[in-house]
Amino acid sequence: MLKRIIMMGAPGSGKGTFGSLLAKDLQIPTVTLGDEIRKISSENSNPFYQPIFEAMHKGALINDGIVWAILANKINNTNISEGFLLDGYPRKIEQALIMELCDFKYDLVINLKQHEEVIIAKMLGRRVCTSCGANFNIADIKFEEYSLPPRKPIKRGICDSCGGKLEPRKDDTKKTISKRLFEYKVHTLPLEDYFSNTGKLLEFTAYAGVSDYPKLLENVKERLGIK
Ligand SMILES: [Zn+2]
Repeated sequence: MLKRIIMMGAPGSGKGTFGSLLAKDLQIPTVTLGDEIRKISSENSNPFYQPIFEAMHKGALINDGIVWAILANKINNTNISEGFLLDGYPRKIEQALIMELCDFKYDLVINLKQHEEVIIAKMLGRRVCTSCGANFNIADIKFEEYSLPPRKPIKRGICDSCGGKLEPRKDDTKKTISKRLFEYKVHTLPLEDYFSNTGKLLEFTAYAGVSDYPKLLENVKERLGIK
């Protein structure tokens, strides 16, 4: 059974949550570029590689060919070539074209869609525990067909798990969120067109947040031909 999945989604679309649930239920490993870079840079002592890893750690743009070589190496050489969830890659059309030129095989591309107003409200509602990192969300969204309840702590501003102080993330301001969304759109719209031409694109909107997950799982299984 082939379960080779590419997972796309706007920042704040719940990609991380849905991705980890899918990986668990389909029993496939999640592959992310960040994890692979961390692993390779900690295992690789070749000094010629170090400037590349350092630049990557700082979030600098790296040659798409090198990035793809890292991911392809992971997928082709670790016995997972029949099932994986490639999370957050490709991010732009050039990367998808490199994958095509390398004859990369996949079965399904999931694109999590979300209304921009909803994404912004959800991101502004995020609260993180300053001690243990637990996540909460105080945004209560009812908008058109959307209904996303908050995940509030029991005591306002206090972490349920450890009693630590809850704060918004530093980069969750309206300005930075809009900038992130704009950049995402610029790169992603051409990718959506590209993947929809392959016939492998599955678009999904979680109108009720994570409680829509069973619907997504059902759609994914149907598309992959899993009972
Ligand atoms: Zn905590």
